Amino acid sequence: MSLDGAYDDGNIFAKIIRGEAPAAKVYEDDHVVAFMDVFPQSTGHTLVIPKQDAARNLLEADPAILATLIQTVQRVARAVREALKPDGIVVTQFNGAPAGQTVYHLHFHIIPTWEGVPHGRHAGGGMADPDELKALAAAIAAKL
Ligand code: 5GP
Repeated sequence: MSLDGAYDDGNIFAKIIRGEAPAAKVYEDDHVVAFMDVFPQSTGHTLVIPKQDAARNLLEADPAILATLIQTVQRVARAVREALKPDGIVVTQFNGAPAGQTVYHLHFHIIPTWEGVPHGRHAGGGMADPDELKALAAAIAAKL
């Protein structure tokens, strides 16, 4: 899907928001949800999404919702740092399939990074163990 198109509320993140699909949640309030990526590029790869904006990408986002979202990204990234002690943290966000986007509900990636440990492939690696993701989510949540 390019930058043009309509929001599809059947996407997997919309299902997670509605409780129709499972997720290892780190944080949730009325505005945002943070949860573990099931195809993580590193241990602790976390996603942060807005709940109330049918925005497929950054360009379509309501600025007020974006403000809350990026503040949550910072908060969760700080908790990831405290919980997992990475050497660095990559924050990414893709807009349109040619740019690498695969799920068309606005989201930010928080990817903890360790010296000498390459990231896995974006949206293409193996599926993580659900129990391990739950444990990671709990460890990060404890540092919020
Ligand atoms: P994008 O490619 O759109 O920037 O990122 C989408 C992300 O969602 C990818 O990193 C991919 O691994 C992740 N993902 C895809 N399906 C699921 C799912 O069912 N649950 C979770 N938690 N993450 C998913």
